[in-house]
Amino acid sequence: MGYVRGLRCRECGAEYPATLRTVCDACFGPLEVRYEMEAVREAFTRDGLAGRPRDLWRYAELLPVADPASRVDLQVGCTPLRRAENLAGTLGLRDVWVKDDTVNPTYSFKDRPVAVAIAKAREWDVPAVGCASTGNLAAATAAAAAKARLPCYVFASAHLEPTKLLLPRLYGATVVPVDGTYDDANRVALIAADRRVREERGPEPDGLV
Ligand SMILES: [Zn+2]
Repeated sequence: MGYVRGLRCRECGAEYPATLRTVCDACFGPLEVRYEMEAVREAFTRDGLAGRPRDLWRYAELLPVADPASRVDLQVGCTPLRRAENLAGTLGLRDVWVKDDTVNPTYSFKDRPVAVAIAKAREWDVPAVGCASTGNLAAATAAAAAKARLPCYVFASAHLEPTKLLLPRLYGATVVPVDGTYDDANRVALIAADRRVREERGPEPDGLV
């Protein structure tokens, strides 16, 4: 699958094939994608880069999506650097530049990981997507899911200000209020996703859970 070698746990170093999983089985640590760096080095040249479109897929060899047809075109990434003279003066620095990710489709950097996640969901033919969020991730996920015509579920604390969920609702996401904190919403989202995956797979063989 493209340039991906597999997944590795950032905490304990355990390695896994690049399949649908969210955390390390051994320690629940986050997983990072490992790449075939020799092959990437050959394909990823300065001259080659110059002729590519100016969005996140410019760096496709270092993103874990093999099939270009699975990408959702929302023009994410390659956002401008803005010179911040006033901030530079306040900090006593000569030059300060700010990366302006507010020009992404839903006004935050969360559009970047979501662009990759939705493309991967399409590549794997996942039937629905979702997230736990305090606002920005929900908007990004809902917008990309709408473009990809995938159902989207947003798990959020029932105590979150309603305006933070305005964009995801406008993009057609189903908002699931959870009576608790963000961490509680995250747990409910993981349980819901796990159940959905088990339903899709059908019953496990005897002796397995
Ligand atoms: Zn681990």
